[in-house]
Amino acid sequence: MKRLLAGLILVPLVIVSGHAQPRPRKIFISVDMEGITGVVQPAQLGPDGFEYQRAREWMTGEVNAAIDAIRESGAAEIVVCDSHGNGQSVLIDKLPDDVRLVRGFPRPLEMMQGIDDTFAAAVFIGYHGSEWTAGAVRSHTISSARLLGIKLNGMEVSEGIFNAALAGHFGVPVAFVSGDRLAVTQLQNVVPKAEGAIVKEPYGYHSAMSVTPARGQAMIRDGVKRAMTKLSSLQPYRVPAPIDLEVGFKLTIDAERAAFVPGLSRPDAHSVKGSFRDMVEITKLLQVLTSLEAP
Ligand SMILES: [Zn+2]
Repeated sequence: MKRLLAGLILVPLVIVSGHAQPRPRKIFISVDMEGITGVVQPAQLGPDGFEYQRAREWMTGEVNAAIDAIRESGAAEIVVCDSHGNGQSVLIDKLPDDVRLVRGFPRPLEMMQGIDDTFAAAVFIGYHGSEWTAGAVRSHTISSARLLGIKLNGMEVSEGIFNAALAGHFGVPVAFVSGDRLAVTQLQNVVPKAEGAIVKEPYGYHSAMSVTPARGQAMIRDGVKRAMTKLSSLQPYRVPAPIDLEVGFKLTIDAERAAFVPGLSRPDAHSVKGSFRDMVEITKLLQVLTSLEAP
């Protein structure tokens, strides 16, 4: 109902001087923090860290660099999805006043909340490698505390690949990813046409050779600009359904309890698996499985 009213109000606004203007492209930006320039440790990743407030500025700077680049290539409607930690790291008052920002958890589509089939492309900023990527900065998949990795149809996936598949469910391609070298190359292995900005050369879980925030933002601006020139050639990344999901847990008691969920079985002490209709079902399920009370 609300939607209908909003639509009725918006219609006259897009008709200028007697003829309908094409609606601006819609671009979805999902932003995490571990892959932001300069970020290597919990010191930057949460409210208790001595450098968290600075890292929020770097993160917001990278989002704004992406927004600038998107708009340099034409008008765009932009949704930013704040997808790290408490979902409130992006400095909302430092964004252009016509973008919208998804904040807070829980939410059904997690790092992709707000996406739908009206978007032309998705852009991933500050992404990191998966749990099983050795040597990547803060490599984990969805929950570093609880999960031992996620497989979709037998392939271990990063959050970038997972979210590309979720975007693909809505027919939306991934145009760009930034993060450390392993985060970027892991996603480009399955989405080879996505542009990337490698802002850090990882040495390990808690160290990297990083460019400066200003340089990282310039690299993101250039990469997103390149990505916007080839939107029409991008294909959504679609995982064939039904999708076989396998979830590993660090604690065996979490796998034990997860196996109580109808449709999940437990092939070994640390894992559960099942077959699901689509990525939306899987995304919702994973949030429940990662929020079990600590034993
Ligand atoms: Zn994160």
